[in-house]
Amino acid sequence: MVVNCEEVWREISSYLDGGIEPDLRLAMDEHIRGCRRCAAVLDGTRNIVQLYGDERMLEMPLGFSQRLQHRLEQENMPRSRRGFLGWMVAAAAAVLVAGGLEAARSSAFSHPELRSEHAQPGAGVPPNMLVVVSTDGKTFHAAGCPFIHDKAHIQTIQAREALRQGYAPCVRCMRKYLAS
Ligand SMILES: [Zn+2]
Ligand SMILES: [Zn+2]
Repeated sequence: MVVNCEEVWREISSYLDGGIEPDLRLAMDEHIRGCRRCAAVLDGTRNIVQLYGDERMLEMPLGFSQRLQHRLEQENMPRSRRGFLGWMVAAAAAVLVAGGLEAARSSAFSHPELRSEHAQPGAGVPPNMLVVVSTDGKTFHAAGCPFIHDKAHIQTIQAREALRQGYAPCVRCMRKYLAS
């Protein structure tokens, strides 16, 4: 069996949750090994599902999902019948394909009230920004940061709350807020 990129994206949520024919899984493994784009989609999707596979996703800014939805329509991605998770997966794929998670992250999370104070580390991070913390880590991250360790215990909270709880901003993904 041979699958193309679109088939990989369509089936990626089944692939991740294991509900997939062994033949198809083999074919997808084969394809993903040789296709950097699909490998990136798979990585990003796994991340997003881990980050947002809970009710906190509902706290995402409204405009964010609307933009994704819009882009999805433009990209003509196949609509998934698997409900919310499937939709997220398709959205993740669309975003990744259209230019990487970086772009989605910066448009979703850049706030105008940036750079209000420089008094303490992390003060430049918009207080309402949703950030990811790992419950036994010491830093907070932007969603999708590759330096999030211990993905089993992550939590999405507001930057204000992360700072209050003593988390420090990740020097990689939060760099733009730390420059002063
Ligand atoms: Zn592919
Ligand atoms: Zn980070």
